Amino acid sequence: MDTGNKTNNSKTEANISGNFIHDIIDRHLEEGVYKKVHTRFPPEPNGYLHIGHAKSICLNFGTAAKYNGLCNLRFDDTNPAKEELEYVESIIEDVKWLGFDWEDRLYFAADYFDKMYEYAIMLIEKGKAYVDDLSAEEIRKLRGTLTEPGKNSPYRDRPIEENLDLFRRMKAGEFEDGTRVLRAKIDMASPNMNMRDPVIYRIAHLPHHRTGDKWCIYPMYDYAHPLEDAIENITHSICTLEFEDHRPLYEWVLDELGIFPNPPVQIEFARLELTNTVMSKRKLRVLVEEGKVSDWDDPRMPTISGLRRRGYTPTSIRDFADRVGVAKNNSVVDIALLEHCLREELNKDAQRVMGVLNPLKLVITNYPDDKVEYMELENNQEDPEAGTRDVPFSKELYIEREDFMEDPPRKFFRLAPGKEVRLKNAYIIKCEEVVKDEATGDILEIRCSYDPETRSGLPGAKRRVKGTLHWVSVKHAIPATIRLYDYLFVEDENGEMQYNPDSIKELKGYVEPSLKGTEAGSRFQFFRQGYFCTDIVESKPDDLVFNQIVPLKSSYKPGK
Ligand code: ATP
Ligand code: MG
Repeated sequence: MDTGNKTNNSKTEANISGNFIHDIIDRHLEEGVYKKVHTRFPPEPNGYLHIGHAKSICLNFGTAAKYNGLCNLRFDDTNPAKEELEYVESIIEDVKWLGFDWEDRLYFAADYFDKMYEYAIMLIEKGKAYVDDLSAEEIRKLRGTLTEPGKNSPYRDRPIEENLDLFRRMKAGEFEDGTRVLRAKIDMASPNMNMRDPVIYRIAHLPHHRTGDKWCIYPMYDYAHPLEDAIENITHSICTLEFEDHRPLYEWVLDELGIFPNPPVQIEFARLELTNTVMSKRKLRVLVEEGKVSDWDDPRMPTISGLRRRGYTPTSIRDFADRVGVAKNNSVVDIALLEHCLREELNKDAQRVMGVLNPLKLVITNYPDDKVEYMELENNQEDPEAGTRDVPFSKELYIEREDFMEDPPRKFFRLAPGKEVRLKNAYIIKCEEVVKDEATGDILEIRCSYDPETRSGLPGAKRRVKGTLHWVSVKHAIPATIRLYDYLFVEDENGEMQYNPDSIKELKGYVEPSLKGTEAGSRFQFFRQGYFCTDIVESKPDDLVFNQIVPLKSSYKPGK
C-alpha cells in the first residue's frame, strides 16, 4: 500500500528565500571581502534539537547551498559538565533526517583544545590576557554595573612570565576548580559588560566525552566560538540575537591574535519562538526529567525527534522554517503555521482511509446477514494517479460515537432517531432504533434500515441527504490504538501558559482492512478526522498505533 511517504525520498532543495543575511553576503561577495560562503551549524550537545534549531539548520545549510558554498556540522562541546554522547548521536540523526549533508565536515570544538590553548599563550605573551586569582564572587563585585564602570583586579598587571607560568600550571592540574581563571585584558570601563576583562579559561576537573581526562581547564564560549569558526575557515557565523552584544568580543579575539588572514563575521538573527510550547533545551529537559512527557521524542515535544515521531515530514519543517523567514526582531510564531505546512503537503499526497476513533456499533437490519459488498473509494482525490481501492461493507458496521445523537440540536446533520445519512461511498441509511444498556443508559448499538437503491451506479445514488459518515465493517476492521494530542502548553484563565496534563488521549478504535500490515512511519488522511502516522517506536504491522499529526481543519489563515 502507498504509505504517503514519498516526500521523504525527495532530494533536498536549497529552498530558502532571500533575507537580510543574504543581502549582507551579496555585498561581501561583490566587494570581494569573501570569495566563497562557508557556514556552520554549531549545536552544543546538551540536549535534543528542537524546531528552533531546525530554523538555524535550514538557514545555515540553505545559505551555503544558495551560494554554492559549504556548511559544517560542528559540536560546540566546550562544557564537559552537561554534554553527552547520546545527544551527539541524536543531533546527527536529526540533521540528516531534515535532509542536510555536511559530507566529511563533522567537527568537534574539543578537537581544537590544543590550538585554543596555544592561542591563549599567544594572548598572554602579547600582554592581552592574565591569570586572575580572584574568586568568581570577587570578580563579579569588581565588574561594575550598566551605569558604573568596573574596577581592575589587583592581579591585572601581573608580569607576562608569571601569567605564563600560572596558566601552564593551571593546565597541569596544580590548582583546584575555581581558584584561578584566565581573563582577556580589555577594558574594565567598557560600556559593554562583555568587554570588561571576560573570563576565557576556567579550571574544571571534569572528564570530557571526547578528550577524557586530558584537560582540566576549559575555554569559555565567547573565546572558543570565534576560534572554532576561524579554524574551519567559516566566512559567515550566523547566530541568534542574544549574541549581538558579544560580537565585539568575537572580533577582539580574532583581531588580537591577528593570525587569521580572512576572519569570519558574526551576523545575528531572531530566535524562533512558537506558541503553545517551550523551546529551550533546558526547559525541555525538565519536562523529560519530571515525567511530564515520555522522553525527548514524545510526540508532543517540539523536538525534531518528537515532531518526526508525531508524523511531521522533513519537507514540511523546512517549508515552515522558510515561511517564518529571517528577521532582526524577536517574535512568537503561531504553532498553527507549522501545522498548516504539514497539512498542505499531506493534502497533496497522503493516502485517504477510513478509521473510526470512538466506535459505536451500527446494525443494518434489512441487509442480508452474510453479504459482503466492496465499495470503491478514491485513494486521493487530489492526485489523479492515486487510483481507488475496494473497502468491504456488511450488515454490522462501526461509526463514530459522536456521529450519533439521540436528542440532536437543530443543525445536527449526522445520525439521529428517524434521520437519514449517507455512509461514505455506500448506501443511505435511516436510524430506526437505539439499543441501550438498561442499567446505565449507555447506547450500545444503533439499528438502521438501508435503501438498496442508493449505492453508486444505482438509480437512487443521486438521492441527497445532508450528512456523510465514515464507517468500517465490524468483521473486516482492524483494531488500532489511536492517540490524539493537544498542545503541551495552554493558556490559563490569567493568560499564562501552563503545562497541559490532558495533552494526550489514547483511544481503541478500528481502521479499514487495507491498513493491514502497515509499516511504522506511514502517513494517512483519515476521512473527516485528520492526518495520522503510525508510531515509529510502538506501531507494529500486526498491532497498529497511530498518532494524530494534526486535525483536518486549521485555525491558521494563510497570509495572516
Ligand atoms: P537552547 O537554549 O535551546 O539550548 P542554544 O542556543 O543554547 O538553545 P545551541 O545548541 O547552542 O542551543 O544552538 C545551536 C545553534 O542553533 C545556535 O547557532 C543557536 O543560535 C541556534 N538556535 C538555538 N535555538 C534557536 C531558536 N529558537 N531559533 C533559531 N535558532 C536557534
Ligand atoms: Mg545553550
